[in-house]
Amino acid sequence: MERLSPLMLVGAIIASDDLVGVDQRPTDMIQAVIPDAEALMEDCLASGELDQEAFIYCLQTLCALAGHLFWGRNLSYLFSGEFSGNCSACGHSLYFVVGAYGFFCVGEEWIGPRKRTSTQNPIFPSPLQHLSPVAAWLHQKAVAHDQLEVAKQILHLFGTTKCPECNIMLEVSPAITQASGSSGD
Ligand SMILES: [Zn+2]
Repeated sequence: MERLSPLMLVGAIIASDDLVGVDQRPTDMIQAVIPDAEALMEDCLASGELDQEAFIYCLQTLCALAGHLFWGRNLSYLFSGEFSGNCSACGHSLYFVVGAYGFFCVGEEWIGPRKRTSTQNPIFPSPLQHLSPVAAWLHQKAVAHDQLEVAKQILHLFGTTKCPECNIMLEVSPAITQASGSSGD
């Protein structure tokens, strides 16, 4: 993990949407370090020594290096197991639980004393052939490195569910990225 930390910091800097003191992302500077950083990350992944948390952080860093900036900032929520978003139809705030706690969508806080009234709708995994290019790339990385639990989480993160508030079917990943004002790249 020692050599991972600086790389993760590089990834976090690249993916940051909090640019202070510069008008735009310093692309030239970033491009120069990306090939080396990617090669080092691939070495770390291939070492087979990563636990699930470290693997998720590595994938997040690879997203940042590859220019998938939203997931370069947010993929690690897989480890905490919950993403927040909005229903595209009714606009209600939603929580998408993807990870250790299972795979479901709720319209209100679900950690702590469970409210018996809160509906938990299951999240259905995306079929492989429906994955977007970014999702397929993430899934392939997880499968290639034998992180099958992470692979399953990714299929759910890009899966579908029903809004507990208005009952419309919605895609999980756009509900998360659009709530943050990002295109999800
Ligand atoms: Zn809704």
